[in-house]
Amino acid sequence: MRVAENLKQISQQINEACLKVHRTADEVKLIAVTKYVSTERAREALNAGIKNLGENRDDGLLEKWKVLKDKPHWHYIGTLQTRKVKNIIDKVDYIHSLDRLSLAEEINKRANHKVKCLVQVNITGEESKHGLSLDEAISFIGSLQPYENISVEGLMTMAPLTDDDQILRDCFRKLRELRDQVQALHLNFAPCTELSMGMSNDFTIAIEEGATMVRIGTALVGENG
Ligand SMILES: *Cc1c(COP(=O)(O)O)cnc(C)c1O
Repeated sequence: MRVAENLKQISQQINEACLKVHRTADEVKLIAVTKYVSTERAREALNAGIKNLGENRDDGLLEKWKVLKDKPHWHYIGTLQTRKVKNIIDKVDYIHSLDRLSLAEEINKRANHKVKCLVQVNITGEESKHGLSLDEAISFIGSLQPYENISVEGLMTMAPLTDDDQILRDCFRKLRELRDQVQALHLNFAPCTELSMGMSNDFTIAIEEGATMVRIGTALVGENG
């Protein structure tokens, strides 16, 4: 399928989900996750009107960045090894996977500007997933204050792989409630307005629960090509 056709369908689903909960589609940033596909396919996505690309490895991001440069906004959405920070720090607009102090320290050291970060939270506590637990998240965010190059723009989560809508909805709702708690602290280094949640299988539920960024790969650009 052409990206443009998939995009038409997804945009419609985004609109419908927004309507249901009295939100508007411009409150939801669509990130095309291009980790499985070629630079050409990523370019096709940009030509179709996509403005944000997500990658989960430094080499994948760099390969596409060399060609597409700053045409899209770049989102680093994967586990980030500390030693890879220097490769991507000047290229990305958002890092969605801040989950430990050693990573914050390295980002802070390598950056020469404020870096927009999202703190990754593992809501359901699955072993296979990275991120802080709900209990740890607030104190972790508090401990980021000394890092002047880090701005906590929001929270990110990956829901469990299930087709049980209620489990998905609970997961997204918990992230939103955590976001509201952080906002209520009025920390100047953590405006925490963004909620990065929702992928191909669950983005409409995520939007109903308040997502401001959805990360869609398979349903938008496919898994190969
Ligand atoms: C791969 C990936 C996505 C996109 O997943 P799809 O199911 O293909 O839409 C979103 N977020 C993260 C962190 C990913 O690694």
